[in-house]
Amino acid sequence: APLPARGPRAPAPAVSFEFFPPKTEALETQLWSCIRRLEPLGPRFVSVTYGAGGSTQERTHATVLRLVRETALIPAAHLTCVGASRDEVDAVARRYWEAGVRHIVALRGDPPGGGDYEPHPEGYAYAANLVAGLKRVGDFDISVAAYPETHPQAANPEADLDNLKRKLDAGANRAITQVFFETGHYLDFLDRALAAGVTAPIIPGIMPVSNFAQAKRMSEMGGTSVPAWMGEMFAGLDDDAETRRMVAASIAAEQVRTLQANGIDEFHFYTLNRADLTYAIARILGVKPAS
Ligand code: FAD
Repeated sequence: APLPARGPRAPAPAVSFEFFPPKTEALETQLWSCIRRLEPLGPRFVSVTYGAGGSTQERTHATVLRLVRETALIPAAHLTCVGASRDEVDAVARRYWEAGVRHIVALRGDPPGGGDYEPHPEGYAYAANLVAGLKRVGDFDISVAAYPETHPQAANPEADLDNLKRKLDAGANRAITQVFFETGHYLDFLDRALAAGVTAPIIPGIMPVSNFAQAKRMSEMGGTSVPAWMGEMFAGLDDDAETRRMVAASIAAEQVRTLQANGIDEFHFYTLNRADLTYAIARILGVKPAS
């Protein structure tokens, strides 16, 4: 499809931003300067991740509560069910509900040390069970994960799509995708989801990549393929951070404009707690601070 028109009459898409909870005071300062830079873009929501095995529970909670107290942003708290009983997970959810947090990103999570996933004997086995449990705690707005290239532990793509449908049927309102670099993987997935009867929004998760080695490691763990052309673009730039950032902005800008040309009007950004690339790409999409 041709790239859509730019300009005042083209409606700006909706955006949301993902952050991770900071471990140190310096990282906390970095996170908050990122939040303050992105806040004027008027995101639909901002989400805060939960560490592997729930390891950042208190830091996630503290970050979400600070968003409630100090900003007008709508926070979404990520919550996983790995390694915890249903009562423990419900207690975390209830704390959020009581603090006025109404949006949860509901996930299964992964075992902290790697290895095979085993449901907790008294826990929610999968994200779909967690979604149903959360709905019993409160009428949360719930987002779940979707995998354009299929979750690595799924029996097959159809089974994984059935799982997405179970999560939506259990009460989730939308899905956010795992990062993908080949735009075609996402568009094919949308077609398959639509053919399977999914009508809820499936928001593309966009990660502007400037640290290629790190992105490759993270992607391959999460089942995302890293195309050879991307490796070529970053080849030899290990010591040239400035060029890497320009390449990163250009790759992500091309990706979001292609998605826009295909009718996508909502984007979720994995910010990695750095504002600049996300800010620039949102601007390229036509998202501006409200004047
Ligand atoms: P599920 O939807 O439960 O699916 C997990 C796997 O089990 C899939 O392969 C599915 O097909 C299969 N499955 C589901 N039900 C059954 C069944 N009944 N029988 C057999 N197989 C079944 N991780 C974190 O730790 N913290 C975060 O904050 C976090 N945020 C994320 C945000 C997004 C947008 C995404 C895409 C991922 C995030 N993750 C996070 C990673 C996520 O926890 C992992 O990808 C995890 O391996 C799967 O979680 P899920 O919610 O997709 O699981």
